[in-house]
This record gives sequence, C-alpha cells and structure tokens, in this order.
Amino acid sequence: MPPAIVGHDGPLTDRQFLLGDTPTTFGRRQDSTVVLTSERASRRHAEIRHESGRHVLHDLGSRNGTLVNGRRVTSHVLQQGDLITIGDEQFRFLPSDDAATIHSASPLPQTPEPVLRVAVSGGGPVGLSFALLLEHLMGSRVVVTVYDGRWAQEGARVVWKGQDQGNVRRQQVVTVQSRQYLNLPGPVQARLFEPGAYSEMWPPGPDSIKGHAPRNLRISYIEDTLLEMAGEKPDRIRLVPARFDPDSAKQDHVLAICEGGRSRTRERFTGKFGTADSSIYSLDGKHLQDVVLGLRVKSDLPDAMSVLLTVAQNRYLLNALGGEGFLNMRLTDEEAEEVVGIDPVRRVFEECVAASPCMMGRTGDGDFHCSTHGTLFLPALIKGSALWRRVREGLAMFGVAEHNLSAVTAFRLDMVQRPRFTARLYAPTSSAPGTYGFLLGDAANAIHFWPGRGLNSGLASAISLARSLNQAWRGRAFRDADFIRHEAAMAMLQYRHKSRAWQAMVTTDADGVTHAIKDNIARGCASTPAAPSSDAQVTADLDTLMDRLASIRGRLSQRVSGLPDDAALRAHLARLSAETLRVLVISDAWDTVVMGGEEVDIDIFYREEPASAPAGEPVWAPRLASEREQHTRLISRSAARSPQPTAPAPR
Ligand SMILES: Cc1cc2nc3c(=O)[nH]c(=O)nc-3n(C[C@H](O)[C@H](O)[C@H](O)COP(=O)(O)OP(=O)(O)OC[C@H]3O[C@@H](n4cnc5c(N)ncnc54)[C@H](O)[C@@H]3O)c2cc1C
Repeated sequence: MPPAIVGHDGPLTDRQFLLGDTPTTFGRRQDSTVVLTSERASRRHAEIRHESGRHVLHDLGSRNGTLVNGRRVTSHVLQQGDLITIGDEQFRFLPSDDAATIHSASPLPQTPEPVLRVAVSGGGPVGLSFALLLEHLMGSRVVVTVYDGRWAQEGARVVWKGQDQGNVRRQQVVTVQSRQYLNLPGPVQARLFEPGAYSEMWPPGPDSIKGHAPRNLRISYIEDTLLEMAGEKPDRIRLVPARFDPDSAKQDHVLAICEGGRSRTRERFTGKFGTADSSIYSLDGKHLQDVVLGLRVKSDLPDAMSVLLTVAQNRYLLNALGGEGFLNMRLTDEEAEEVVGIDPVRRVFEECVAASPCMMGRTGDGDFHCSTHGTLFLPALIKGSALWRRVREGLAMFGVAEHNLSAVTAFRLDMVQRPRFTARLYAPTSSAPGTYGFLLGDAANAIHFWPGRGLNSGLASAISLARSLNQAWRGRAFRDADFIRHEAAMAMLQYRHKSRAWQAMVTTDADGVTHAIKDNIARGCASTPAAPSSDAQVTADLDTLMDRLASIRGRLSQRVSGLPDDAALRAHLARLSAETLRVLVISDAWDTVVMGGEEVDIDIFYREEPASAPAGEPVWAPRLASEREQHTRLISRSAARSPQPTAPAPR
C-alpha cells in the first residue's frame, strides 16, 4: 500500500488520500487534491511532493501557515505519524506500511466518497445551466439526471421536440448580465458566445462586471447550446426525455425543481415550500396582472435608437438581436379581451393565444395562424380593430415594415412572493438517502419581463445552489444549515428583482396614489381629442417626449454610441398618431432612478476572505478598547481550558 495522509480532525476525518508521484495539493480551490473548507485555509495552501524518495510538505505562502506537530513550517520532510494542521483541519502522515495497517484495521470506507445524486426536473436554460455548473464544480463526485417533457430521443442523442410534436421553440431574445454569464463555466461561455450568436444592445450598468456589457441571446439558442453540451457528458449528466415523476425523488439526495413558472412538482410539494402570497403584488386587494402582446419582428432601427425609444415610455418594448426579436406591447384590460384565436367558423377558442402562449405564425394570406388549435388571430381579421391599429403604430415607431411582422403571441404576467426556496422533502431512512428540494429559475421567482431579469435571477439561483452543494457534500445526509447561504441568496434575488419589476407595473402620481400602468394607458387611449383640437395636444406631447428623450440620451451618452440627435428623433415621432403620442406620454418613462442601484451579488456568500490580511491575523479584529478587553478575556479563558494547544494562538 503506498504512503498516505489520513484526515485526523475536521470534516475529512478518516478520509484517506494516497500519495503518488504527482504533488498532493491542499487548499480551498475546488481543483485541490484535498479540498479544505476551513475558513482559515487559503485557496492554494500547501502541497506534498515526492522528492528523492521522500515526501516533503511545502507551505505555498498561505495566509495562516502550515503546522507540523504544532510548529509552523515552510518545508518539512514528513516522518511517520506527523500531524499536519491547516486551518481547523488536521491530517496524519502514514508511510507505506502504516497506510496498509490503517487501511485494513480501521473502519475507513473501502470505497470512495459516495457520489451525490441530483435530479433536475426541467431542462430549460436554468435546469441545464445548473447541471453543467454542478458537473463542472464537482466532477466525478456528482451524477445529475435531468428530465424534460419537451425532449425526444433521436438515436443516441436527446434533442428538442419539433413543432410537429407540439413543441413551439421560444425565439424570444433575453438579455443576460455579465454578473451571471461570467460565473458560468469557461467552456459554456465559449460555446454560448460564439461570434454572431449574441449582441450587446443595452448599455453596461451596475450588473456589468469589469465593464462587460449585458448580452442578448435567443432563448432557443441558449437551450440548444446547453443541451448539446450536457449531452457530451453522458457519464455524469443523464438526459431523460420525459416529464418528471415527483415520487421518484426519494432515491436522490437533491431535487432541483426548474420547471418554469407553472411547475407541477412545486405544487406537489406545497406542504414543504409553503403557499405563495400575492398580496404585495396587488392593487386595491386585486392581484395585478399584465397581458403583453408579443410581436415577432425584424426592425430596421439602429440599436441605439431602439434603446432610447424603449426606455422613454412603457407601452412598447423591443428586445432584439441584430434587429430580429420581439416587440412587446403592454395591453389595457379591454385590449386583452380582444386577444383571441378564432376558428374559420367563427367559434372563439379561449384555450389558444389568450390562455396559453400559442405562437401564431403568418400565413401566405397575411393572417396569423395557430398550428396547434387551427385558429386565426382575431384582431388582425377585424377591419377597423382599434387594437390592430395600435399594433401597427408600434411597428412604425420601431421601424418594422409590416411584412416584417412574422408571428403574434401573448403573455400573462404577474408575480407572487414565495416563503422559501429550500426544503427537506424526505428524511433519510435505512433505504433512502434523504432528499432536499430546491426551487430554481422561474419555478422559484417568475418575474415580469418588462425590465427583464427572470433568466438572470434564475442563473444566479443555479450558480448559488451549485456552489452550496459543492461545499456541503461530505457523503452524509444534508442538514438545513448547509443551505443558509443559498436561501439568503434566493431571498435577496426575490426582493431585488421583483421589487424592480413591480416598479415597471405601476406608477405613483403626485398625490401618492399608485396606479397600474396599463390603466394609465387606457386613460391615454380614451382621452385623445379629435382633430383639430388635438393639434395643441400633439405639439405638447411631442415636446414632452422630446424633453424626456433628451434627458435619457444625456444619461446614456457615456455608455451607448450612435444615439440620434433631436432632429432625427422629432422627425421620427412626428409620424405617429395623436393617440399614440398621448399614450406614450401618459405611460411614462422607465423609472430608472427608482429601479436602479445596487444589484444582488451572490458572490458575497461564497467569497474568499480578503487576501490582504497579514499572516496569522484573525479575520475579525476588535476595534474598540472595550471589544479588545473582552476579546483578551475570552482568549485567556479558552487558553486556560486547553492545556496543550497544538497551534499557537493567532497573533
Ligand atoms: C418575452 C420574454 C422576454 C424575456 N426577457 C428576459 C430578459 O431580457 N432577461 C431575463 O433575464 N429574462 C427574460 N425573460 C425571462 C426568461 O425567459 C425566463 O426567466 C427563463 O426562461 C426561465 O428559465 P427556466 O429554465 O427557469 O424556465 P423555463 O424556461 O420555463 O423552462 C422550464 C423547462 O421545464 C420543463 N418542464 C416543465 N414541467 C416539467 C415536468 N414536470 N417535467 C419535466 N420537465 C418539465 C419545460 O418543458 C421547460 O423546458 C423573458 C421572458 C419572456 C417570455
């Protein structure tokens, strides 16, 4: 049996690490041979090298030092029984014979640490990112099984079902912040951000790390890329093209529920995660819901102009990649009732675009047709429909030629407050390992997409859980305490992103009364006077919009190039109808002052201690005289209780 070190005290007690010819490294870095969790260990702390037939321990310039038998060392030739102390963890060195003796005589596990078994229900962008992240962090210590009902088996590969199998791929463009994408594994970033696959339309902001701007990607492209990458790791990521059966979760240590906003598995475990509360996202006791019409378009406007026009009002929002994307239109309640699909014999189908987000593509005749329900989009068929006229105004405003509108869909958006995101679903038994369940992505926090942070919040939740599991897995059943950081990160994400999105659903007037933006839009539609009395109103509205645009342009000019000048803006707006101008004014600009500010930084929960602390210094140092006195008393009391300290007290 080759020489080894054996965990003596700490989380790795009794774990045996055989020493070979390559260096054995100790540290908090996840790629160390011996991964330490002690707060006092450095990321790269020490290593044992095989030099001229001996095993030599080297400290790698660690902050708190490496001790052998209680003495600090920089290099030390290891002898039988040497006790190595790193932070709060201890190891014994055992040359060959002793390693054999220990191995046969002690109750050490004969097999390596049990593998963490993780089930992921839902293989959307969050479920797949989570699987890839976990595999990246934990390597052979984990096996992940991902289930999705929108997948099909094609030979040896798992692929997305096509439209003929009832799966309409999502072509929406999402904006991902660098705070999230820079935390994805390097190979995932490299594949996602191939040239031409993304654009940088929005300016950098507080969520932009090291000046890296937010990036626009199509959801279907994100899903294709992640599924392909997950399929390349069959030993560690199993892809199951089927809906998840919640009762099968008992055999796994972890169930990550990533099924999106309408998750059934989450509802099955309501008793564990608690009931969602809609009260704080309600007005006058009524849960506020927006209906948004999604228009798949190709816009000819430059990105800078689109950004400016989007932020200056709350009726239309364009999110595109090279001009192609979705123009979203916030509807009034009255307009929302018009959003229906109708069959050729004039029977209304509530189950179509009005209820589920069916995508109605344009036919050769110029109609919009749902291939699932065989319906046509009613507003486009009715001559003189007010809604369709307003759709066309939106197209004109965002430089979309009518033939460049290729599909119509609708989204219903509301928000709820969730009490918790982590729950023990099953206790460990003699035949089952005990299962912890987690809500991630839209299953945890479905967020109104108008200011757009749903996927960002979902990716942050996946990053947080992957890090927590990697740190906490010791081959034993988990405890609630293992997930306090993750649960805190989830609460922060919920607070920040939902309160931001709420500011995009309502406005508060000068008297302090809060109104739904959709109701203000309805007021704008109703209040437009007929010509010629509207001329003065038109001029006033144009002036208001121009003032607003100039002020936003001033704020963006440092971060966005190619912004249009006053003449270009005025000429552009002058093409719009009096009603549209009125609605744009009354819907108000994005309240970036209220929405802006500090962003959620989940790294604070998983961050290394500051590297600048001098060697041997405790991270916490008493500042006040009274604190110092109390600290000294505590230290002398604890020193008196431990007669033979193995390590000197920190200086
Ligand atoms: C128009 C629009 C624009 C948006 N813009 C932005 C933006 O700019 N920025 C941003 O951050 N976010 C944006 N979002 C939000 C973003 O798209 C979502 O937050 C994100 O897709 C959520 O990912 P998810 O994986 O949690 O859920 P989903 O994408 O909903 O995926 C859930 C997956 O689970 C599967 N599933 C469901 N139930 C089961 C089951 N029982 N068993 C197995 N599989 C199941 C589904 O088939 C699906 O594949 C936007 C959304 C929309 C609609």
